Amino acid sequence: MNEQKPRSTVSDEIDSASNQVVSVPVGKKPSREDAEGAVRTLIRWAGDNPDREGLLDTPARVARAYEEFYKGYDIDPRAYLEKTFEETDGYDEIVLLKDIRFESHCEHHMVPFIGRAHVAYLPDRRVVGISKLARVVDAFAKRMQIQEKMTSQIANTIDDVLEPRGVAVIIEAAHQCMTMRGVHKHGVSLVTSRMLGAFRDDPSTRREFLSMVDHSGGNFS
Ligand SMILES: [Zn+2]
Repeated sequence: MNEQKPRSTVSDEIDSASNQVVSVPVGKKPSREDAEGAVRTLIRWAGDNPDREGLLDTPARVARAYEEFYKGYDIDPRAYLEKTFEETDGYDEIVLLKDIRFESHCEHHMVPFIGRAHVAYLPDRRVVGISKLARVVDAFAKRMQIQEKMTSQIANTIDDVLEPRGVAVIIEAAHQCMTMRGVHKHGVSLVTSRMLGAFRDDPSTRREFLSMVDHSGGNFS
């Protein structure tokens, strides 16, 4: 069992004054033993017996799965954007990374929502390695989220660290909390967007971005 370094549990909030993502410490992280005990309780709550053979290792597996589902809490997304390149031969058009697949969990039910993000920015001299945009998406997706907040966090972080002339983020996702419970609606996707700088102020830049994305016909269920 690999014991983790002790650290605080954090909660990401957007500070409304500075528009920055800030991590708020909310207490010491529980032990793996505590986490496995909690899973045993949930198994009993669901109506099964955590001591039967098929479920014996489940609490440990769930705890390990949580490390993967929620690994974004250990990542500082801003760090991905700090290395930039200035030798672009004056490239000053939209940079768009399309169809970044992500898996996240809704913070209301802790069930998956799965979809794609389209992330664009309008460089101001500096560009970043394109894989870094996908890593920023993942760093925020691997947390308990609502899609609206995740959309803002991605856009605000890029805007803040890279300081481009504009940032645009569109996210389309299917929420299993809508298909597996509650209203039980299949085949619907939620689309959210956040436009900053030129994408917000200049209709032609926004139109160009939207035509590059052409976000019709997505199916993520
Ligand atoms: Zn939900």
